[in-house]
Amino acid sequence: MRRTLIAGNWKMNGSLAANAALLAELKVGMTGQSCDVLVCAPAVYLAQCAEALEASPIAWGGQDVSMHASGAYTGEISAAMLSDFACKYVIVGHSERRAYHHESDRLIAEKTLRSLAAGITPIVCVGETLEQRELGQTDAVVSAQLQAVLDVLDDEALTKIVVAYEPVWAIGTGKTATPQMAQDVHAVLRAQLAARGVAIAEKVRILYGGSMKPENAKELLAMADIDGGLIGGAALKSSDFLAIINAV
Ligand code: PEP
Repeated sequence: MRRTLIAGNWKMNGSLAANAALLAELKVGMTGQSCDVLVCAPAVYLAQCAEALEASPIAWGGQDVSMHASGAYTGEISAAMLSDFACKYVIVGHSERRAYHHESDRLIAEKTLRSLAAGITPIVCVGETLEQRELGQTDAVVSAQLQAVLDVLDDEALTKIVVAYEPVWAIGTGKTATPQMAQDVHAVLRAQLAARGVAIAEKVRILYGGSMKPENAKELLAMADIDGGLIGGAALKSSDFLAIINAV
């Protein structure tokens, strides 16, 4: 049985004061829920998360990681550094990084390897643009993105990743994939994992991301192959994020 994961991606939002309020509200609202809960904060706020969340059921993680171990890579954050701040997870290959920082499938595969080597669970994001969907390329696009990661992982490592299906056209737009549209793509990804091993496919969690909010979370999370959510906008408001957690 896969345990549901509700992960917040704060993106480049927040401040010491705003985060303190948000984290305090989330902690109060966490009353024995049965899913895993995660907030992915900007790197400069990971120490704040570590301090605020240490004795709570909420995990914290990064939004990106370097493909390099250390060295002359100005501005980069290594997996070991994330580990120093007790990050359990890190997002890799978010569509905003693919689009604005020209991250390739190969680079994302390297970042996945670095994360796993540091004992951090990578949340590998895949997703198609609106144009690709309209051209009927969705399955091919997400499968190629996932395959680049599958190609560099052995079976044991593969069971340790989380996949997030995030249609680019649904991120931050208010447009959500219908539960069936999302399920269809999740099923394709699950089948791709099953080609490596049925037991692997049964273990790996596949999250949906793209304008998930309290009003649509329950229906999305009810689909057979949707094992949680990666949530942007709605993760910035404690009442919305908690409502999604409570929809599990
Ligand atoms: C995201 O940033 O991964 C995301 C899904 O954002 P939003 O929920 O705002 O669409």
